[in-house]
Amino acid sequence: MEDKNLNKRKIKENIKEKIKQKLKKELLEEIYNELLLEENDITNEISSMLDDEIEISKIEEEIKGPPVKKAKKKKNIIITVEPILKIASHALKYASNNIPTSKWVEVIGLLAGDYNSKENILYIKDAYPMGHGTALNAEIKDYNNFERAFQEIRKKKLFICGWYHSHPSYGTFMSMEDLETQSRYQKLWSEAVALVIDPYQIDGTSYGFEIFRANLKSKKWFKVPFSIQGDITPELLPELVNFINPIVEGKAIYLEYDEE
Ligand SMILES: [Zn+2]
Repeated sequence: MEDKNLNKRKIKENIKEKIKQKLKKELLEEIYNELLLEENDITNEISSMLDDEIEISKIEEEIKGPPVKKAKKKKNIIITVEPILKIASHALKYASNNIPTSKWVEVIGLLAGDYNSKENILYIKDAYPMGHGTALNAEIKDYNNFERAFQEIRKKKLFICGWYHSHPSYGTFMSMEDLETQSRYQKLWSEAVALVIDPYQIDGTSYGFEIFRANLKSKKWFKVPFSIQGDITPELLPELVNFINPIVEGKAIYLEYDEE
């Protein structure tokens, strides 16, 4: 008799535990879905703000990127080949061997990405050339263009995850002037990145670019590790850049014999 009661109690406990687990799971799912909705709301908020042409300082205060999970040590940035080639060719367009080195200038643009919050991985999927200039801290001054890029990026279901600029032939470091630009992007999204490229370091031994974030309080830059999707090695990159170079110089990649 007692045995039977004990058994019954055990079964009850078991069922109770199962119900608890189920509720917990449902609750977690609900929270997750709510967070997803919030993310959409934020994106809508941003676009409506841009529609109203609110000045950038106001946007800075209000835009928030996707929520970020902290304290992950693994390489959590993956960049695809397309933005690398776009950035390299943009940089070379204004600092090619056909231009005297005294006339070389830096270029600047936006990075568009996709953030997987579950796995804490930022995928940099596209790059948007925005400008070039003589100033070291080349800035995007035309906010109409910024808005156009923003809309295009949004259409592709990506978001602005940072910016890039070039250092033609003088290396992949970040300057104090760059810090000001970076602070603007990190205020938009705390995990925003800055990519700096020296197209003349794409030499088969290095990728010729680095990705950085800044500690805005200590005003220090730090490199962030990344990997390239599709296992592109540094040896492959010069060949790819050379292949697209004719486009940079305004020529067709290849011509039929009688087109020459
Ligand atoms: Zn710089």
